[in-house]
Amino acid sequence: MSLQSITERLHAAEARAGRAPGSVTLIAVSKVQPPERVEAVLAAGQRIFGENRVQEAQGRWPDFQARYEGISLHLIGPLQSNKARAAMGMVDAIHSVDRVKLAETLARLADEIGRCPELFLQVNTGEEPQKAGVLPGEADALVARCRALSLPVAGLMCIPPADEDPAPHFRLLGEIAARNGLSGLSMGMSEDFETAVALGATHVRVGSAIFGTRVAPV
Ligand SMILES: *Cc1c(COP(=O)(O)O)cnc(C)c1O
Repeated sequence: MSLQSITERLHAAEARAGRAPGSVTLIAVSKVQPPERVEAVLAAGQRIFGENRVQEAQGRWPDFQARYEGISLHLIGPLQSNKARAAMGMVDAIHSVDRVKLAETLARLADEIGRCPELFLQVNTGEEPQKAGVLPGEADALVARCRALSLPVAGLMCIPPADEDPAPHFRLLGEIAARNGLSGLSMGMSEDFETAVALGATHVRVGSAIFGTRVAPV
């Protein structure tokens, strides 16, 4: 478990970028990790966790939440509309809003429930056919639609193509956010979170570098 070394690297990256210490939110991505690894990271003080699947999160977080105060869950994986209600009851942020239909479902549920998690709109910066996310050219329209629905849009999220330099993707995400007046940037994972911080990330999503290699791929 290397939460401490990742936290130190994050603080160093913040300092190099002239950012205030602790200004970047570290989301510990616990998807698929065995419970004892998650427990060790909880015991070390981490309270913000990322999960990919609503069902997996529902299965194990209530137990941790009964034993540890102040846990905050972020949904970082694709969200099906039929899981939206469960997600909204459980998480403080959703990083994967990528289509108008989902935004409309979230808005309807938010009206009904009386609260809404912080939302990040996922942008498919590499325009990869198999990857979720709105295309860069359609991002402005999705932001506008979410605002018209009074949804709390905190920012944008991306997952750069695995085999490319992530920096141009992080820059593109920053440009789209800036022209839409959005301050949140959810970008950077185990391999590239320091680059992401240098390019303005406000939230980094780090899994294997904290918990170790995932036992099963997701
Ligand atoms: C799995 C995952 C991460 C974490 O990946 P690591 O390379 O293990 O840090 C971050 N973001 C998303 C959307 C993921 O699915």
